[in-house]
Amino acid sequence: MSRRILASFGVMVLASMSSAHADNYPSKVITLVVPFSAGGPTDTVARLIAQPMSKKLGQTIIVENIGGAGGTLAAGRVARSDNDGYTVFLHHIGMATSATLYRKLPYNVLTDFEPIGLVTSVPMTIIAKKDFPAKDIKEFITYVKTNHEKITYGNAGIGAASHLCGMLFMSAIGTPLTTVSYKGTGPAMNDLLGGVFDFMCDQTTNTTPQIKGEKVKAYAVTSKTRVASLSNLPTLAESGLKNFEVSVWHGLYAPKGTPKPIIEKVSAALREALKDPIVKQRFADLGTEPEPQDRATPEAHRAYLKAEVEKWAPIIKAAGSYAD
Ligand code: ASP
Repeated sequence: MSRRILASFGVMVLASMSSAHADNYPSKVITLVVPFSAGGPTDTVARLIAQPMSKKLGQTIIVENIGGAGGTLAAGRVARSDNDGYTVFLHHIGMATSATLYRKLPYNVLTDFEPIGLVTSVPMTIIAKKDFPAKDIKEFITYVKTNHEKITYGNAGIGAASHLCGMLFMSAIGTPLTTVSYKGTGPAMNDLLGGVFDFMCDQTTNTTPQIKGEKVKAYAVTSKTRVASLSNLPTLAESGLKNFEVSVWHGLYAPKGTPKPIIEKVSAALREALKDPIVKQRFADLGTEPEPQDRATPEAHRAYLKAEVEKWAPIIKAAGSYAD
């Protein structure tokens, strides 16, 4: 057989293999990788959608937490995983911001993944240890500025949403602070409750129970408008930090080259999960809501990821002198 015939034969075999895979998909357990520790906000979102998605796909989905390096460790591993649909990845805004925050990443944010759909966009909250001396956000800002040498700020590493929010906050108040980094804000929260550091900026999916249980002091939300379930908290923008707005959008990915029919199946299961009344209720309880159906698609997600990489690059560069 000539080379060319052999090559086209190979392409045909590959194409029929991938559609055969897609027909039987999923025939074994799917791993959903979360780039932060168990018990944190992204883990919470992952576990909430995994259940109805697994029901729709008729297959078990296990969550694997690979924390470290602000989410980039897990992203690197997923980029090198088999692209057979049995590894999927839930990441957030950090997917876009890490493209600017890191001079070199072991993967390309825009070309090494197949976006599957947007999941939810979670507001953040500024919270401090229970005995922190400020009574509201204005006092909080004044206190932090005056006592900056001794104030410590917790986050989940460069690339984490808690890092981004902290960096923007330090830039907005013009004051660099000492940072303590964790593999996720799940373990960071434990240390905040124990008074190991002073404050953090973290997602409502992690902070709502602690705020409602009065285990921490809450000062403000980072979204454009107030959050219905925490309506007594002002936005940072209305508290004097003009234009301060961060919401932690999450998206589902697969490694580059995962067959399109498989991506479509997982995406359809995601859209189903986002319609689930239990998911909607839990999201609402935790201060967030599912993305609309037309955003939970590969096309909308791909376009949004690119727009977000472009949106954050200049903002991060401007605030960058306050990065860790
Ligand atoms: N989402 C992270 C977590 O689940 C924390 C972060 O991005 O700040 O721990």
